[in-house]
Amino acid sequence: MNKFKAQIIAMMRPVGHKHLSMTDAALCKECQPKVQAAKELYDKVVRKNPEVLARAKPTFKPTEELKEMWDNLQERVKYDTMYRKHLELSFKGTIDQQNKEADKVNKGFYEKNSEWTKKQL
Ligand SMILES: [Zn+2]
Repeated sequence: MNKFKAQIIAMMRPVGHKHLSMTDAALCKECQPKVQAAKELYDKVVRKNPEVLARAKPTFKPTEELKEMWDNLQERVKYDTMYRKHLELSFKGTIDQQNKEADKVNKGFYEKNSEWTKKQL
């Protein structure tokens, strides 16, 4: 929740009692002025800068492990022609080709036969 929303909610918070709804709070003698003040502030601020209500976008931070996996994958696609062919068939091939590729992966075909892996060893 952003700071502004938290502030509005804090402004309306009843002290020493509770309300089940905003309607109840607005009818309560003690809370009515608070609700009114919060509503006025809310309307004023939102009218002036509607972006205060915008949710902050979470920034994606890849972990070190993910970065390494990505680097490895890029390198492999670049240099391992057999693996590149496998990806092409897996994504663009016919259903039959896709199934064949899936079988090959499951049997460890690319682990055993990749030139790239051999180069790494
Ligand atoms: Zn109240």
